[in-house]
Formats: sequence, structure tokens, C-alpha cells
Amino acid sequence: MAVYHGPVTIPAVDVGAVSVLVVEDAPEFQKLLEAVLVREGYETLVAADGESALEMVERHDPTVIVLDLGLPGIDGIEVCRRVRMISSAYVVMLTARDDEVDRLVGLAVGADDYMTKPFSGRELVARIQAMLRRPRTTAVASTDDHQRVIGDLRVDLLAREVRVGDQEIALTKLEFELLAALTGRPDMVFTRQMLLEQVWDTNWVGDDHVVDVHIANLRRKIDLDGRSHIKTVRGVGYRLAVEH
Ligand code: CA
Repeated sequence: MAVYHGPVTIPAVDVGAVSVLVVEDAPEFQKLLEAVLVREGYETLVAADGESALEMVERHDPTVIVLDLGLPGIDGIEVCRRVRMISSAYVVMLTARDDEVDRLVGLAVGADDYMTKPFSGRELVARIQAMLRRPRTTAVASTDDHQRVIGDLRVDLLAREVRVGDQEIALTKLEFELLAALTGRPDMVFTRQMLLEQVWDTNWVGDDHVVDVHIANLRRKIDLDGRSHIKTVRGVGYRLAVEH
């Protein structure tokens, strides 16, 4: 993102009303995050533990919460669960390891995004801006929202029709449901387990590679133009390939 350093700042996104709560116990990292967000023009609040984070959420109702997983006292997962009961803030969870993201997404604690440390300030800001741009959507489409257009991909949930460019694509029921799930939250990373739950309607914990098989078939059908429409997120799962 271009940052304008002149006397009058014209931000790319109107950040005037956006407040961000940083929940992080490590002082150096907390300061770093705060500095990055303040520089971007966000009204920034800081909490060092879960208890005070929840108090701040109640009092200030922030737009975005940047939430570290490893906190003293109540951990980030529990904070996220409790936040979800009182706020519709966007939540980005920070983890120390890739496999923690996997576990977190599987727990479906209601975070909107996940980042593994270390990451750059620019990366965090980009994620926040991407979140703020997308409307909060649910997996269940309303009748007004049955047409999804993502790049050259069109999914009509009512007609159950999929097109890439001008070409209509014939999908199996499972392939269609997978694509419907992924396009329902274009910025979210789905674990195989989440897709099993949503598409196969099962909580079965076992060999989830059945998901990979159907994703591979789906890709073979929709990636006609040489463009990849579904991204593999290593160690986590899949997301739609959306350009920001
Ligand atoms: Ca920590």
C-alpha cells in the first residue's frame, strides 16, 4: 500500500471509524503492532491479557481485534469464544506455529483470519484492509445473494450453475457444494475438517483426504483457463484464490 507522507493524508481506505484492539502479552510485539496500526491511522487499543481484552471489547466495541493465541490467564481461543458472544468485531488470531493455525481453524472458534508469527506489519495491515472490505457473509446465501462472481468464476446457487468465463461447467453435487462453501467466504481458509462438516455434513474425524480428491476434481474442471481458482494453504487447507 502506498503511504502518503505529505501534510494532508488521504488514506486508501477510510480508517476514520476503525478501531483496532491488540491483545498481546509480549511487550516488544505489542509495541510493534501498536506502532504499525497507529501509523496506518487506526484508533488503537492495547490489552496484555484476556480479562482486560474482554473488558475493552465491552467498553469500546472495536472494529477489529488482533488476538494472540498464547496469553496468560484466559487463552486466545477462549477470549475469541467470549468475544463472539458480545461483539461482531473482525478477529485476526496470531499464532506462534503453523500447526496451531490448523488446530484453531478446526476448532472453529469464530476468528476471521489467522496469521503465524513472524509476519510483517505490512502483511497485518493488508489482512485487516482485506477483512474490512468484505461484507460479513454467512455460508447460507439469501435469495438476493445467489449469484457469486469471483473473477471469471460465476456460481449461481439457485440455478446450481457454474461458469468460467462463457463456459458452463458440469459439476457433481459434492463439487458444487465445495465450491459453494469456498465462495461463501472468499477470504477464509477452510480446513478439510470444516469442509467435511459443511459439505458432507459430518463431524467424522478420520481420513479427511476425501476432501483433497474432490478438490482435485473440481480444480480439473474449473481451472480451464490456466488460472488457479482454489489455493492450497499449506498445513491448513483451502481457500478461494482471490486477488486483493
Ligand atoms: Ca503471547
